[in-house]
Amino acid sequence: MLHLKQPPQNVKLLEHEPLARYTSWRIGGPARYFAAATKTDDLRSLMAWAAAEALPVFMLGGGTNILVADGGYPGLVIRNRATQHRIEEHGDDVRLWVESGAPTAGTARRLAAQGIGGLVWAEGLPGTIGGAIFGNAGCYGSEITVNLMRAWVLRDGAVEEWPKARFEHGYRTSVLKRAEGVGESRAAPTVEVSANAQSDLPTLILAAELHMFRDDPRKLEADMAAIAESRKSKTPSGSSCGSVFKNPPGTTAGMLLDQAGLKGTQVGAAIVSDKHANYIVNLGGATAGDVLRLTEVMRERVLATFGVEMQLEVQVVGKQV
Ligand SMILES: Cc1cc2nc3c(=O)[nH]c(=O)nc-3n(C[C@H](O)[C@H](O)[C@H](O)COP(=O)(O)OP(=O)(O)OC[C@H]3O[C@@H](n4cnc5c(N)ncnc54)[C@H](O)[C@@H]3O)c2cc1C
Repeated sequence: MLHLKQPPQNVKLLEHEPLARYTSWRIGGPARYFAAATKTDDLRSLMAWAAAEALPVFMLGGGTNILVADGGYPGLVIRNRATQHRIEEHGDDVRLWVESGAPTAGTARRLAAQGIGGLVWAEGLPGTIGGAIFGNAGCYGSEITVNLMRAWVLRDGAVEEWPKARFEHGYRTSVLKRAEGVGESRAAPTVEVSANAQSDLPTLILAAELHMFRDDPRKLEADMAAIAESRKSKTPSGSSCGSVFKNPPGTTAGMLLDQAGLKGTQVGAAIVSDKHANYIVNLGGATAGDVLRLTEVMRERVLATFGVEMQLEVQVVGKQV
């Protein structure tokens, strides 16, 4: 039993909050502690409290690129609800300052309606700006690092300004994502995977400055409509987390998985989509264990068939039971 030293002021702290409802896969056990934060001050006090309580911390964006373990998360989960943004314009220089909890696609759409382009490629991309920067999300010929100029992070209790280069972005990765060990060749856990040690609280992205430009709103709308249509035709319906594996060099994970005959393969209530073989769909009531066992089947079949070792794109969070 923990004795709470100083519960943070002005934030509602929930205990044993089920996390499945906050993830696009609708999978995952409870968080020992859970709080939503809308301001940097809330984040600071929550982080200070977690450090004092020696609790690991997980920053939750839209929950669209994670698999929460069935045992849940043994520390504090902070749901990022900071969503402010503003445009700063000096002649042709158009910049977006945006808080990290802002929805990526929603922000892109809102700005396009005002004749501000730059994030058109992100139409339909689930999740938050913070999650996109963490994993260098990308699609339709671009990725967030192309827009990123600098960001403000909370690290060891202080706010730091990071230039883009400091994130060391690569294909669906960053220095922050690598620090969590995500994307290693074998990631199916039997113990805690991303619960940070007390002395190693995560670096939180607070806000970012993105490069944008002025364009014709009708053109932007048409470009986004075309992307939305394309996404609709390729995305399986049902609860998923998008692509499960990264694309290996020179090919796509979806093609390898398809050619290895994995479409329709099912473990428990988790199934490889018939529409896109790199998507695992929760048919209803799937557990993280189902998904992890299915990813092992997929990974082993592709290795045996093509000799290619695939890496997870999604991050496994918490403690598997
Ligand atoms: C249907 C579907 C389609 C998708 N299509 C694509 C696609 O085309 N391209 C693509 O790249 N991805 C795609 N994804 C994956 C996902 O949308 C992106 O990776 C997204 O950027 C994740 O953002 P999030 O806020 O949901 O992050 P979460 O899943 O909440 O978190 C992911 C990681 O980011 C960290 N994180 C989140 N916010 C912060 C922050 N502020 N500071 C520090 N760390 C933070 C979390 O701690 C966690 O480690 C898709 C997902 C779905 C469900």
